Amino acid sequence: MKIREMVKTFKPYKVIEGNYRIWLDKNENPFDLPDEIKDEIFEKLRKTPFNRYPHITSMPLREKIAEFYGLSPRNVAVGNGSDELLDYLIKIFEGDYIITTPPTFGMYYFYAKLEGIPIVEVPLNEQFLINGEEIAKKAKKASIIFITSPNNPTGNSQPREEILKVLDSGAPVVIDEAYAEFSKENCVDLLDEYNNLLILRTFSKAFGLAGIRLGYLLADTEIIDALYRIKPPFGVNSLSMIAAMVMLDHYNVIEERVKYIVRERERLYKKFKEYAYPSDANFLLMRLNAYEFLLERGIVVRKLEGRLQGHIRVTVGRKEENEELIKALEEFLDVANI
Ligand SMILES: *Cc1c(COP(=O)(O)O)cnc(C)c1O
Repeated sequence: MKIREMVKTFKPYKVIEGNYRIWLDKNENPFDLPDEIKDEIFEKLRKTPFNRYPHITSMPLREKIAEFYGLSPRNVAVGNGSDELLDYLIKIFEGDYIITTPPTFGMYYFYAKLEGIPIVEVPLNEQFLINGEEIAKKAKKASIIFITSPNNPTGNSQPREEILKVLDSGAPVVIDEAYAEFSKENCVDLLDEYNNLLILRTFSKAFGLAGIRLGYLLADTEIIDALYRIKPPFGVNSLSMIAAMVMLDHYNVIEERVKYIVRERERLYKKFKEYAYPSDANFLLMRLNAYEFLLERGIVVRKLEGRLQGHIRVTVGRKEENEELIKALEEFLDVANI
């Protein structure tokens, strides 16, 4: 037996163990579903035959998502988290490399490395904005381009005029909109016009369903058809699909919570304006080397590396949690200033 060397170049997952009080490290929604909605899901689950496979191409859910956006189910793919879909997206297009725009989400790198596909980086500028022209220049030989808007971990949205320059190259462009519900902008309306636009969304953030692992893709039928040729059958389980469908019926609950989180985000931003970057997502990037200091006080945030060394990414939590965070960060600044 011999494990491939390539496998060993992947680091094992870092599990944060400990009795921490406040978790602001994974951009989760701080609210679980209301009991009434959970009960509605349980009622539906009771009537679901567990002995049967789910629909082979996840149909009732794809129809429901399509209806939500005014699209056809043939424009919608669903996966075990949007992460899973990234793996297939990297494999379906011709080209020499993928393009990413760091600092950004790590999963594009994870799958490219796993599949042995080269990565060309076109870094964000000082304001963390993409350079559309620069990306377009490299687009001809690219199999696929990943743009995250709002971006993780910087929180800002990418300007539409820059995104359009990239789309005009004709190469497949994924706009990862995992946080779009917290932003005023998104690219869904461009789907009509650009058949090379792929919009990636998730139930993990604004929808508060990170535990059920469901993500979806909106794109041209040719792309969705290709994806379902290589996607393993029965990939998404019945239980998760039911939970997501029920949640789509209660979008008003999501909207209320998004408002709450955006309000709290702006409150946190104003408090730490000197150190925080403006955000269109449910987290804030802060130029504060406070990871260990916060951890000692029971608050877990995300420690950043590389170009963002000395920065933390802080998820917006419930009001009480944010109050604790504010207190701890004020203490940190006090100590740091002495
Ligand atoms: C959280 C996140 C996702 C969503 O991942 P899931 O697998 O759907 O939970 C996708 N892209 C970005 C940029 C994210 O931050």
